Amino acid sequence: MSSKQQVESAAIVLNCRDHGESDIIVTFFCQHLGRLTGIAKGAKRSKKRFVNKLEIFSSLRIRHTIPQNNRLAFIAEAELLDGFLKLRQDISCYTTASVIRELTLQATQETEGDEELYPLLIWAFSSLNAGRPPHRALIFFLIRFFSIIGYGPQLENCLGCGKEIETTQSYSFLLSSGGICCSGCAKESPTGGIRLSQGTLRSLSRAMLQPLEQLNRLQLSGKSQQEALTFLHSYGRRLFQREIESWTFLRPVHQKNNY
Ligand SMILES: [Zn+2]
Repeated sequence: MSSKQQVESAAIVLNCRDHGESDIIVTFFCQHLGRLTGIAKGAKRSKKRFVNKLEIFSSLRIRHTIPQNNRLAFIAEAELLDGFLKLRQDISCYTTASVIRELTLQATQETEGDEELYPLLIWAFSSLNAGRPPHRALIFFLIRFFSIIGYGPQLENCLGCGKEIETTQSYSFLLSSGGICCSGCAKESPTGGIRLSQGTLRSLSRAMLQPLEQLNRLQLSGKSQQEALTFLHSYGRRLFQREIESWTFLRPVHQKNNY
């Protein structure tokens, strides 16, 4: 394919920055191509082609070139599919979407396609935009996101004895091995870890398997949300070997809330 040839992609805006007098450099996550960074020439002047479209979190259909050798794509045109306005207007939605955005940028490479991540991003942003509880959307996003990028945590069987979750045991998640350990095994070789109740483990395992369109039916108690967020935050930091900066701005979970 010639590098000049233009294609169309459904894409979510992950980042925008000004470039020179009139251009904007935009990073998208595209349905088939994955992360794509391109230049929208004259975007600051050309109101008609790009106005109100090149905004973080927006869902667009873009016409663009396929970049070669780490160059920027050329963004010819953009059509707004959904502005996901609530994500920029509501502070809880904004902070949650910011964590999702930061981790997606962190975990992906330019034009390394992924067919599963785009629908998950759309699910998360649509859920937030529709007023679904932000913490729950983040938890369900993250548990599936880690699987998609190849680091799904092992939450169904104890890493020590291999047994499935039993009501007589309690469980801890071991960051060093990416899975859970039952209290029986932990007694023999104490390892610490992050406490996860059986209810939380079951909910998270279910959230990994549930079809996306049914994911919002799953409930998660305030206690499970708290446990899950503590675990997912630590797991993400461990995986990327760095702090997740936008996590600092998330609101704490109120234990009373039962979503
Ligand atoms: Zn065990």
